[in-house]
Amino acid sequence: MKIKDKEFEVLITAEELNQKIKILAEGINADYKGKNPLFIAILNGSFMFAADLMKEIEVECGISFIKLSSYQEMTSTGSVTELIGLNENIFKRDVVIIEDIIDTGGTMVSVLDEFRERGVSSVEVVTLLLKPTALQNNIDIKYLGFEIPDVFVVGYGLDYDGLGRNTKAIYQIKS
Ligand code: 5GP
Ligand code: MG
Repeated sequence: MKIKDKEFEVLITAEELNQKIKILAEGINADYKGKNPLFIAILNGSFMFAADLMKEIEVECGISFIKLSSYQEMTSTGSVTELIGLNENIFKRDVVIIEDIIDTGGTMVSVLDEFRERGVSSVEVVTLLLKPTALQNNIDIKYLGFEIPDVFVVGYGLDYDGLGRNTKAIYQIKS
């Protein structure tokens, strides 16, 4: 597959994704029986994973979507992440964050901090993909799809420069 100037090859097939999603959902269904969790998917990348995962969730639950915008603060050196679109009250809720990929883990750390500040009853993470660098960022990932090498991937929601989200498989960049 070619996107713009880059060639990509299949890393994870549609069948492998479907199989794994069923397994992830089985775990969540067992753990959240009778609990009414609130799933919160992080846009844009996780939209396809979230949709397919939710079709396999059998417990009573809600789903909501958030976006993150990061910007540089004029006065300080650190980048600040702002969480957009969370209208639900998450106080005392059992939240499950749905993410497409965790790389450095920076995004997930700031989301977890924000949710804990808002007084969730519990918060767990389900991510389809994990790159090994994140392991240094001490995140407790309860539900993990695939650990992948440190390569750039696209497809199944993930983009390259805004393109390539609309595929059934996940592709890695050809070196
Ligand atoms: P982190 O904060 O964990 O470093 O980055 C997470 C975000 O970076 C993901 O939600 C995703 O948007 C982006 N990202 C990290 N690795 C990749 C990759 O290989 N491909 C794409 N398309 N996005 C990535
Ligand atoms: Mg993402």
